[in-house]
Amino acid sequence: MSSCPDKRPVVGAGPHVIGRRVAPPHRLPRVFDQGLQRLAEFYAGSWIQLAVAGALCAALGLLLRFALLDQLGHSYTFSTFYPAVAVAALLGGLVSGSVAGVVSALAVHFWVTPLTAGAAEVSLVIFLTGCGVTSCIGELLHQVAARMKEAEARRAGAEELRLVNESLRLAIGAGAIGTWDLDLTRNVVTGGDNMLEIFGLGPERIIDPQAVGAMVAKEDQTRMRAAFAKALDPAGDGLYRAQYRIRRAHDGKLRWVCVRGQAFFEGGRAVRMIGVARDVSDEKAAESALIERARLNEQFTSVAAAAPGVIFSYRQSADGRGSYPYLSPNVKNLLGFDGKDIETDPRPLHRRVHGEDRAALGASLAESGLRMTLWQGRFRYDHPQKGWIWLEAQATPLRASDGGVVWHGYAQDVTERKRSEEALARSEARLRATIDGARDAIITLDDAGVIQAINSAGATMFGYRRYELIGQKMSALTPGEERLHDGYIWGYARGGDAKIIGRGREAQGRRKDGALFPVELSVTEARYDHQERLFVAYVRDLSEQRRIEARLEKLHVDRLALMGGMAAAIAHEINQPLAATAAYLRAARRLLDKPREERAASVSETVEKAADQIMRAGRIVANLRSFVGRGEPDKTLVSLRRLIEEAVELVAPAARRAGVHVSFACRADNDGVLADGLQIKQVLVNLLRNAVEAMQGCERRELSISTDACADGTLRVNVADTGPGLDAVSQEELFEPFMTTKAQGMGVGLSISRSIIEEHYGRIWAEPNTGGGAVFSFTLPLARVGAD
Ligand code: ADP
Repeated sequence: MSSCPDKRPVVGAGPHVIGRRVAPPHRLPRVFDQGLQRLAEFYAGSWIQLAVAGALCAALGLLLRFALLDQLGHSYTFSTFYPAVAVAALLGGLVSGSVAGVVSALAVHFWVTPLTAGAAEVSLVIFLTGCGVTSCIGELLHQVAARMKEAEARRAGAEELRLVNESLRLAIGAGAIGTWDLDLTRNVVTGGDNMLEIFGLGPERIIDPQAVGAMVAKEDQTRMRAAFAKALDPAGDGLYRAQYRIRRAHDGKLRWVCVRGQAFFEGGRAVRMIGVARDVSDEKAAESALIERARLNEQFTSVAAAAPGVIFSYRQSADGRGSYPYLSPNVKNLLGFDGKDIETDPRPLHRRVHGEDRAALGASLAESGLRMTLWQGRFRYDHPQKGWIWLEAQATPLRASDGGVVWHGYAQDVTERKRSEEALARSEARLRATIDGARDAIITLDDAGVIQAINSAGATMFGYRRYELIGQKMSALTPGEERLHDGYIWGYARGGDAKIIGRGREAQGRRKDGALFPVELSVTEARYDHQERLFVAYVRDLSEQRRIEARLEKLHVDRLALMGGMAAAIAHEINQPLAATAAYLRAARRLLDKPREERAASVSETVEKAADQIMRAGRIVANLRSFVGRGEPDKTLVSLRRLIEEAVELVAPAARRAGVHVSFACRADNDGVLADGLQIKQVLVNLLRNAVEAMQGCERRELSISTDACADGTLRVNVADTGPGLDAVSQEELFEPFMTTKAQGMGVGLSISRSIIEEHYGRIWAEPNTGGGAVFSFTLPLARVGAD
């Protein structure tokens, strides 16, 4: 068979003719048709059945003869048997007719009239001839009817076959099934249209089987050949089944084909194979997609079961009703509900969301559904067993076919994380406050010396804004410390240069305007996360310290110079009282030499005056000692208020005598200073005494003492009087040693006071009092708690 069903021409072919049958020929009336059918069936019976029918018909003829015996007598011997023979011939054709004729002849001979006469023999011959003819006609009619029936059956069969062929052709066409016919004796394949198309071959139907074999992918060659060889095995069933990949001839694309065939054998040798081929690439792809989907589904199920949170699908229909089409098994643990309890009515679940978070969640969900953007939410949830917990969820919306939206997402318990975040935020805030409150610069560096962060004190110290320094090299701030920068910091740290890492060293800082200033620099290594290296540089501005040190140094030098000057001044100062003492003593002696009545002055008075002069000299020496011999201040934390009160107590008798009204207003809450209490009291007493002395003879005599806390962290003390003021001397001169306007004054009190205050890192000055008089003020740094 070289032709295939798909190329066999079909009359009236076309998809629309399927099932249309050719109109049946004209039919006889139904009863008649059925009668004929019965006759035909009877005729198709066995010859015994036909013979019996013939005999029965003959018996009927005999009965009829006996019934008419009176009327007919011995005449018309065979007349009543003709109809019986005719019926038998009609029923069973030749067999029945012949049997009926013979049985009728015997019946006539034995029961009606013995056939002895010559005339009877002629009648018998005529009767038997008539029977033969009638039987032949009956037989003929049956044969014609049988032939007609057979022809009808064949015609119906042919029509059936045509329909089947047509259906098959259309099925092959619709199913893209290619047919092929392999002639093994000639070694050629004849391919149908679909077959050529599947293999991407040209219009030539006769194909070389080797060419087709070469198209099979290398990996599948062995399998294909094994299946083919098995089909050609005469001992087998001749079925060829294989599925393999081919490289399509016209476009080189790799396609999966499924081939089926049946081998035919002749003389124990396969001579032919007919089969079909189908491109199953799409099915294969669908099959692998299905397998992949099943695998993914399995993976998803195990992931969903293992996930600490809940994987969910939340559906919101167009009328706003919500449901959970999917909830992973952990829902019971996370939310305290069984999935099926909230599947169709999630309201019990939603009611457990904290009232303050519910509105925000609803709004963000609506927004997500409207814009089809990722939804995220963090909210409090009242767990039936665990109480309030924090949940975090995110989901991607997809438009549902009914106009609603379905979110697929994941929800998890973040209570612990939230607590940690809050603790971290608190700790960070504390740390930031500490760092920002520090006076020193605190700079975080990476191991390349790049600034990661700096506190505000640091930025101020270097004259930058904080953001200007982030990402800058540390070398911008400490230009002399090259080893600290450019990637060496780690080696520098590891190298154990103790001067930098862990301990401070002096270096130079550079401000934004380029000005250099002394700093103390220390770097510590902070490791975290076992990976990142972080370094923290502490920079202390030493400018102020250096300035004070320089001033102290200068003071020291000044004091030495002063002592030189003082030696001359002392000689001069002491000379006066000594000379006066000598003069008084000499005068006293002269007076003693004279009689009492002649004495111009009392000896005792003169000696008294000499003693006064000696006392004055003594005071000069005492003051000098206190000025020169004062050691380093012995600083402790003292209350300035207390010192003032003690100083006022000391001066109070003199003030009372001078009629001075003393008042004290302590306006500073914190008055703790790190100071040598005795020295500061000495300063206070000096200022108070000066004020009292200055107001002698004045009408208004008011001495007011006050303290104020200053913004720069110092405490200011004011001693104000209503005396004559400071016109007599310049305010600068006031603090110079031996500057006095008093007859008995030494002029060292204010000088010593300034020295003491400056040694305490403070400042002292004088200015006119607004209502008349003078105000002497000094400042002292407030003691910082925890500062060393
Ligand atoms: P002394 O009191 O021995 O003169 P001081 O150094 O204490 O030495 O004072 C120096 C000078 O400053 C005083 O002689 C006086 O002229 C002036 N002085 C000090 N206190 C006052 C004051 N409250 N009002 C006006 N002048 C003052």
